[in-house]
Amino acid sequence: MSINIVNQRYHRLINVILALVLVLGITVSGVVYYKGDFIANRTIKLIEQEVPAYDLLRKLNNGLIEQERLLYEFYANQQPNSFERGFTQSNQQSQDALNILLVQFGDIFPLQLTRTSLQELDILADDFVQNINASETNWVLAHRQLVIIGDVRLSINPQIQQLSNLTENSVTKSKSDILSGIDLVCIFVLVYGLATLILAYMVAKVMKAYLSTAVNNQRLSLFSTRNPNPVISLDNKNIVTYYNPATENLLKKLALSTGKAELLLAKDIEVYQKQILDEGQADSKQFEYQIAQLYFQCNLHWLEDQRQWDMHLTDITKRKKIEQELQYKVSHHPQTGLLNHYELEKTVTRFCQTEHKFTLGLIEIRSFSQLIAGQGVTVASTVVKEVASSLDNILSNIDEAGCRIFHLGEKSFALICTSDLSNAKIDSLVEQIDLRISSTIFHCQYKVHLDFGFANYPEHGNDYTQLHKNSLAALDKSASSGDKRHVLFNLQLGEKLYYEQQLIEDMRFAIETTQFELYFQPQMALFSRKVIGAEVLIRWQRNGQWISPSEFIPLAERAGLIDSLGDWILYTACQKAQNLVSLGWNDLVIAVNISPLQFGHKDFLSKVTKVLKDTGLEAKNLELEVTEGVIIFNEEEAIETLAQLKKLGVHLAIDDFGTGYSSLSYLRKFDIDKLKIDQSFIQDIQHQTADQSIVRTIIELGRNLELKVIAEGVEGNEQQDILASMGCDEIQGFYFSHPLPEEQFIDFLQKSKSIEISGLNES
Ligand code: C2E
Ligand code: CA
Ligand code: CA
Repeated sequence: MSINIVNQRYHRLINVILALVLVLGITVSGVVYYKGDFIANRTIKLIEQEVPAYDLLRKLNNGLIEQERLLYEFYANQQPNSFERGFTQSNQQSQDALNILLVQFGDIFPLQLTRTSLQELDILADDFVQNINASETNWVLAHRQLVIIGDVRLSINPQIQQLSNLTENSVTKSKSDILSGIDLVCIFVLVYGLATLILAYMVAKVMKAYLSTAVNNQRLSLFSTRNPNPVISLDNKNIVTYYNPATENLLKKLALSTGKAELLLAKDIEVYQKQILDEGQADSKQFEYQIAQLYFQCNLHWLEDQRQWDMHLTDITKRKKIEQELQYKVSHHPQTGLLNHYELEKTVTRFCQTEHKFTLGLIEIRSFSQLIAGQGVTVASTVVKEVASSLDNILSNIDEAGCRIFHLGEKSFALICTSDLSNAKIDSLVEQIDLRISSTIFHCQYKVHLDFGFANYPEHGNDYTQLHKNSLAALDKSASSGDKRHVLFNLQLGEKLYYEQQLIEDMRFAIETTQFELYFQPQMALFSRKVIGAEVLIRWQRNGQWISPSEFIPLAERAGLIDSLGDWILYTACQKAQNLVSLGWNDLVIAVNISPLQFGHKDFLSKVTKVLKDTGLEAKNLELEVTEGVIIFNEEEAIETLAQLKKLGVHLAIDDFGTGYSSLSYLRKFDIDKLKIDQSFIQDIQHQTADQSIVRTIIELGRNLELKVIAEGVEGNEQQDILASMGCDEIQGFYFSHPLPEEQFIDFLQKSKSIEISGLNES
């Protein structure tokens, strides 16, 4: 919750309490004032009128009694002087009292009666005095007059009593009014006092809570002050209203003017602000942006109640750099730094979506394996780097606009030109590249020749897979056609591709239904002329036609079928070998070809172990033929696997020796038994002195390293003799025997045994 919301809440509460106190105070003051006034009036009335009324009534009554007494005294002593003085005085007293009462009570009925009675008394008294003062006083009349005067005076008593009652009622009412007024005032004052006390208690509580919140707020404000990350507040017009010391430090670090926190705002901050305000769902947003060399993550908050923005910045430069490095690694080839095959696929897919015409070209360094074989991996790698940088350079300066280069792997590159290139344009493009590449002297004076295969979108494919496949077909064609350096994909190539796809599909089915057979091509020791073993060669009849393993094995490798096919070959070959052993050919060594992909699998060693165990074949009866290709890029693992196989007792031969890597250093490191000279050196050995010298060198190399040497593809007597003269250990070839089905091979073995025996007998 924000500090200001808390503050506002407390202020509101305190204001409400104060308003309550005020309203209550005004009410109580009003009531007290009104009631006080009322009580005062009542009291004045009581003191000035009602209480004196008793006295006046008493005075009135006393005056009348005194008058009557004086009349009786005058009757008795006839002393006019003292009578008149006293009578006038008491008469005046009664008259005065009556007058005041008249003022107080008004001209009410009892007072009217009293006044009449007093007037009557005055007349009666005058008549009586005249009678007494007369010379002939009528004493009987005088007596009667006194009796009448007494009766009239007594007739006034009920009026005085009635007035007295009236006064008493008025006094009682005033008293109760005054008392209830005082009670009310007391209650109000009491309630006010209590309410004020409660409200004071509440204010105290609110104040206490406010103070503790204020402490927290202070702590919170310290949080932003001590926050090592920049915190900036903006008003709704994006004017900076606050920033913390970390912001100041950042400004210094970026060499920006101190105090100018607005320089740290993202350029597109308004876009995010608009999103927050428009969406209205969340009051914050997270985004990243860059200032100079630094990257920031910004948490932008909208504080609705304060109508201001809070920005929390975190420096994510390190993370960003790592991300960028990772991104770079994912999208670039580590060897050359060019965009890699993932990027090629992404780019092609993107271009296909935009439906603009473009050309995909694949480029490969021709005879790369020869380069590795001749110069070694390090030199080859340097050449690749140089070719990559040349290609990059050429394509960025070339006329053909929008050409981009990619490094797909080892010797392969790709280019995308954002226009659909015609054959003539491709000619000129390749010519320009060729001219520059052929005039460049690469590492170790190496001359580089490139092969190209092109496919156009959308003519030759609608997606990456199709375009890549078709340009690869064009490249294959270019690579296999000697002098032709580039090929644009065409219908025939499409047909070839289609044929291969069909072949792969059929092969898949053939693997499931075991349509393959294994043939055995005998191998002979030149010195003893004995059959020492055989090479297992796979055979497949597809729709009544033999398909060469040179055709379908590379396809099986490409289509990922080589694992299951290779497993079947190894198991079946061992099974058949064990059968031969059980027939008596105990020392026969059966050689099985192992594809580099098969060999490269982590579980290859355990597979061989298991197959030997399951078939019961002894390891000494099995030979594995691997090519130099298995060694090139995972040398350490290959050394380890070969050593483990050797430990198992399996024989190891390097197949097609002389065509690939052929480095002395690796031969020393590998625990192998045999070199198998490639048939290309044997084919023309009788005519080619170059081949003869290569073969001689290989045989000598074998001898030095204590390795057996076998020559394959021996077709004639002459070749056999040359090899024998050179000291070659073993031969394999049509001259000796074609590859044979199992039964024929058994016949062959039996025949050769009987020849051997008869030969022995002859000797
Ligand atoms: P490779 O391992 O070099 O096998 C020798 C090839 O030379 C075989 O061809 C064989 O029939 C042929 N050959 C034998 N003697 C002569 C000869 O005197 N003259 C001529 N011109 N050729 C001869 P194939 O059977 O067509 O096999 C071709 C390639 O297919 C093999 O070359 C090998 O790389 C691969 N391959 C064959 N069988 C298998 C297999 O079971 N597994 C694997 N992974 N590859 C195999
Ligand atoms: Ca072989
Ligand atoms: Ca071979």
